[in-house]
Amino acid sequence: MNSWNRRKSVAVAVGDVLIGGDNPVVVQSMTNTDTADIESTSTQIIELVEAGSKLVRVTVNNNAAAKAIPEILSRIQAEGIDVPIVGDFHYNGHILLTDNPGCARSLAKYRINPGNVGTKHRDTNFQKIIEVAISNNKPIRIGVNWGSLDQRLLTEMMDENAKLTDPKSDREVIFDAMVKSAMRSAELAEEIGLAHNMIILSAKVSEVPDLIQVYRLLSSQSDYPLHLGLTEAGIGIKGIVATAVGISPLLIEGIGDTIRVSLTPKPGGDRAEEVRVARQILQSLKIQSFEPQVTACPGCGRTTSTFFQEMAQDIQTYIQDQMPIWRNDFPGVEEMTVAVMGCVVNGPGESKHANIGISLPGTFEEPKAPIYVDGKHHSTLQGEGLVEEFKTILDKYIRTNYG
Ligand code: SF4
Repeated sequence: MNSWNRRKSVAVAVGDVLIGGDNPVVVQSMTNTDTADIESTSTQIIELVEAGSKLVRVTVNNNAAAKAIPEILSRIQAEGIDVPIVGDFHYNGHILLTDNPGCARSLAKYRINPGNVGTKHRDTNFQKIIEVAISNNKPIRIGVNWGSLDQRLLTEMMDENAKLTDPKSDREVIFDAMVKSAMRSAELAEEIGLAHNMIILSAKVSEVPDLIQVYRLLSSQSDYPLHLGLTEAGIGIKGIVATAVGISPLLIEGIGDTIRVSLTPKPGGDRAEEVRVARQILQSLKIQSFEPQVTACPGCGRTTSTFFQEMAQDIQTYIQDQMPIWRNDFPGVEEMTVAVMGCVVNGPGESKHANIGISLPGTFEEPKAPIYVDGKHHSTLQGEGLVEEFKTILDKYIRTNYG
């Protein structure tokens, strides 16, 4: 696995999950149910955890949501799910946390947006939230978002910039203001009495180049752990690609201690998709392994049958279905690589690089499929039972090497 020279940060405990320091990058997610709907929120939290989310954030936007939190925690614990729940607060967090001590106790972390803690009594409201965090021994995330940036601070900084002989662009001033807002809030929280290792920062934007720029700036200012993600990433392929290309360069630079992929699901779509994408980003960068990876060629005119595509999909599905068992019984199996290749051009070469590979016959090639195990020719399959025979070899390899 690659470590990419992780940026130095302090470790923050969110429940029993450690974020920052030398701890693995944490995948987290957020529900999109009405938090006051205990049944659907509990169900979705469980789905997200089963997909691999190590923290789950829920919006806490009113009294009903705040009152639901202890019951949600009880429900998921009754199902054997032990995951820290993070509360997302805007505008009224100081009131909800003060009026609902059960909610304040049950949450493992409070997310505060300094641009959304009020206008008139901003610092007083912020102070109240920090005092609740201190008295409950909870960490906070100071999450700045450029869509809700502290307008007073931004105006001040724009005015100062305008007086310079060589002023920065408006965009650069916005990034500076985001970082300053996060840092100023963190300093204020520490002045109130919150420990240094109880603070996580984020500064989210929705454009990829901006994300890279603002996080490079933020990461240079402190050793607080950083929550990384592209906000409002979008729908489907756009959201997945934008998130991957946005956060990957930062992860390679060692920036980012916890990640969240903010996808817009299709109506009725699977919320856990954001967890699978986050894990795949970490696995593609070889930062962490979660399940064996199937290498498959894209196919071309040299293999016109759909058999090769179906087999690649079949093996991928088989691995995913087996992982709940394999993860427990065969530690280290998540590092395994499997190749399913379409013809002789790259098939044998790629198969030899994988732990197990099969090179299927392309058009006009002899109808035989050589199998390679740890770089050596193992056997040659042909005929109708080929896929099942390959699975048998795969199972045996796992038992022998990871059992
Ligand atoms: S391995 Fe063969 S079938 Fe697959 S993309 Fe390459 S040439 Fe085409």
